[in-house]
Amino acid sequence: MTSELTVPTILNIPNGPVEKPDAKPHALELDLPQLTAILKSWGEPGYRAAQILKWIYSEKCVDPTKMSNLPAGLREKLAAGIDWFLPEIHSSLSAEDGSTKLLLKTATGQFMEAVILRYENRTSLCVSSQVGCKLACTFCQTGKLGFFRHLAAHEILAQYALASSMVRAEGRRLSHVVFMGMGEPLDNYKNVVTTVKTMLRPEEEFGFGLSNRHVTVSTSGLAPRIVELANDVKCALAVSLHASRDELRSELMPINRRYPLSELKNALITWQGITGSKITLEYILIKDKNCGLREAKELVKFVHGLRAKVNLIPFNAHPGLPFDRPGDDDIRVFQKHLADRSIPAPVRYSKGLDVSAACGQLAAKQIENLTSIPSRKAVVAEAATPAQQ
Ligand code: SAH
Ligand code: SF4
Repeated sequence: MTSELTVPTILNIPNGPVEKPDAKPHALELDLPQLTAILKSWGEPGYRAAQILKWIYSEKCVDPTKMSNLPAGLREKLAAGIDWFLPEIHSSLSAEDGSTKLLLKTATGQFMEAVILRYENRTSLCVSSQVGCKLACTFCQTGKLGFFRHLAAHEILAQYALASSMVRAEGRRLSHVVFMGMGEPLDNYKNVVTTVKTMLRPEEEFGFGLSNRHVTVSTSGLAPRIVELANDVKCALAVSLHASRDELRSELMPINRRYPLSELKNALITWQGITGSKITLEYILIKDKNCGLREAKELVKFVHGLRAKVNLIPFNAHPGLPFDRPGDDDIRVFQKHLADRSIPAPVRYSKGLDVSAACGQLAAKQIENLTSIPSRKAVVAEAATPAQQ
């Protein structure tokens, strides 16, 4: 582990899923019946499966050699027959506001990032679901990277396992997870749902035991998958809205051409009908772009009929991104317009600014030459294809 950020080339593997030549199952993707079956096929007693999973989910120990209540022979078989790989913590950068950004090196040599956010009464983890992102939002560093690959469920869970061990040493429990790192979670649907289910499963049933209100999937608005999600798993939902008229939203977020606001809103209404939960709308405030009176009125109209809270996020300016943060007065006027209409809209400043903790910003810093930024047309076409797994 190092605090020096000098990676010459990262994200250097072409698009597509990871090829695993010796496809061993990963320990973080095995449930009790699956592990029991593996043990039995090795001539081992099935009851050992519960002991092993207890190590993983209660002790956050993803290393068979440390499972001290197992016979040595079984520990060897486990080490040889199952994939226990956890990403290496390549760097860990802490900011004064209590956030720590982890840059994690995957088995394929690519990097993913996770950010620990420490608050007075809770500790939260922001996880990545992909290396890069194909949706190419114009204000987003990850969008500028282009898409490299989806993360496997075990790679997303590993972010939790690693960060959890780190904060345990401080006497904290990682109680909240937000899918707001790199990538579009609903574009990696199957792996993200598997991950969320494992996070929500109680520890006694071999999961990480998080509350369903404390795991939030954030999406740029893949409407059909929002509805699917409501049916598949009960977790919290955040939507990156950023504009409430199609022409402007399509300019900022090309995915809007595929799923325009009317379709997105219908999906949100359906999601609320099924889950009965409130939605968080994320709204970045970009100077002279989306935070005038006209846009405030359009936002009020969009929120009408939804049970939603709006988070206003002043834009994080970066070299290479064509936008700026608005002045405090503009932010206040925008917020007041919503508050006067009974729409709660707290202003949230991104944590960890001094370590580039927002979306994709650390990994983006590592890249000198970007050669695989997808074209807008390709992006919209690809995102429109059905779930890939
Ligand atoms: N792809 C999903 C999950 C990533 S969340 C989504 O878009 O919702 C990352 C969040 O950071 C999103 O709300 C995104 O809009 C926001 N973001 C991206 N670039 C930003 C910037 N420069 N300043 C502030 N927020 C930004
Ligand atoms: Fe992808 Fe979200 Fe960034 Fe858009 S804002 S490019 S969807 S990570």
